[in-house]
Amino acid sequence: MRTPMTNNELWQSVLGELELQISRPSFTTWFSNTYIHEFSDGKVVVGVPNTFAKTWLEKKFHKQILNIIQTISQTRIREILYLIIPKTNREVVSTPYPQIPAVQEVIVSQIPSPSNASGTLNISYIFDSFVIGKTNELAYAACKAVAAKPGTVYNPLFIYGGVGLGKTHLIQAIGNTMIQQGTNPRKIMYVSSEKFTNDYIQKVKAGKAEEFKDLYRNVDLLLIDDVQFFSGKERTQEEFFHTFNHLHQLNKQIVLTADRPPKEIHALENRLLSRFEWGMIADISAPDLETRIAIFEKKCQEKNYILDKDIVVYVAQNITSNIRELEGVLNRIIAIHELQNRNPDMTTIEQIISAVRPRKAKGSITSKNILAIVGEYYGIGLQDLLGPSREKKLAFPRQIVMFLLREELNHSFPSIGQEIGGRDHTTALHAHGKISNEIITNERLRNDLETLKEKIYQIG
Ligand code: ADP
Ligand code: MG
Repeated sequence: MRTPMTNNELWQSVLGELELQISRPSFTTWFSNTYIHEFSDGKVVVGVPNTFAKTWLEKKFHKQILNIIQTISQTRIREILYLIIPKTNREVVSTPYPQIPAVQEVIVSQIPSPSNASGTLNISYIFDSFVIGKTNELAYAACKAVAAKPGTVYNPLFIYGGVGLGKTHLIQAIGNTMIQQGTNPRKIMYVSSEKFTNDYIQKVKAGKAEEFKDLYRNVDLLLIDDVQFFSGKERTQEEFFHTFNHLHQLNKQIVLTADRPPKEIHALENRLLSRFEWGMIADISAPDLETRIAIFEKKCQEKNYILDKDIVVYVAQNITSNIRELEGVLNRIIAIHELQNRNPDMTTIEQIISAVRPRKAKGSITSKNILAIVGEYYGIGLQDLLGPSREKKLAFPRQIVMFLLREELNHSFPSIGQEIGGRDHTTALHAHGKISNEIITNERLRNDLETLKEKIYQIG
């Protein structure tokens, strides 16, 4: 009979196999100082030296590890846990992340600057500083084309996508390009739709509506950011409609952004909606990991700051849906570095990440919050959301609510049915199944759900 392998022998064989499957730097970075802490009953506990290693093993190597352990041990493995257990009394090979005490006080400062809404362009928002990936290449190409030939290729150009994905950067890049090229000076106007609205209201109040018209109808390029805020503002929409027509007739370029496609902006006049759809519509969605890494590296370059690749990767892995947060993390890393005169350690980096994206605890979220947020997002009142109508524009958001109640709050199907207008549990079950299926193929829905979750867990 064969004597069973010790845990150490088993892990050495697993490492031997892994070494053949992954690159040398990866292997030494993520697997030095790992070992099997416990192996019994189909359950394996792998000891890892730090959180970086834990995250990588869980997220990137888990399948490989599982397969190899199963093959070598000839056992069906039910579960592998990765626990941070420093190997105190073993020979310690240099760990890639020496632990340095964290300085927490610094973390509160350095809020990343909000996107420019004051009417001037940020000179760093240029095409050259924008990293192109699969999820923004269309928007990028469209903006480039418009900057090269304003008023002729796509007019208007409408860019939509979630928060912090580069919409403002791209449309300002159009403005900056036109300024750079300007042999004859051109008038460029960049405003948020909120500022446009406020300006208009103020001028009207002051009896100076004409001034407003003169200002906005005499530009060569009009960039209006976040037009979803026009929603429900009838008089502003009317004024904007005329501004739009005026400029469009003169072949002046108009570029608009929003957090959703024109059709989904509720309480938007039809005639405005149809104009938004005249030209070109391009979307931006959350970048994949590679692109996030490239963006983070680009931001480091811009700030002349050198950061270990592993840290770059780790941050990019943990901040997935908002580039502004990536920048926030970098600013704080630099601040701490200046203070301590060295790169922050990983504990600090984790603190930075959670400080940059403070989240409500799951336990503090209620059904009411979810109903309110989904209702607002789709422009539907609570009564309609809970009501009997099966009209698609109500039924779909209702299904989203039921899906989120299940996924985020873990409510039972009968109680979800109860909460949503006293429906049967089968309705909740069906809703959950339907949305779960649809997100597999429907990218737009996936993005909506991401945005909704952002809003649900957002503080403030
Ligand atoms: P949005 O207007 O979509 O909310 P912003 O344009 O304000 O987002 O982008 C947030 C920050 O992220 C900006 O500082 C911007 O420079 C940066 N950013 C977003 N996408 C990219 C990208 N692809 N390449 C470089 N920087 C980016
Ligand atoms: Mg913006």
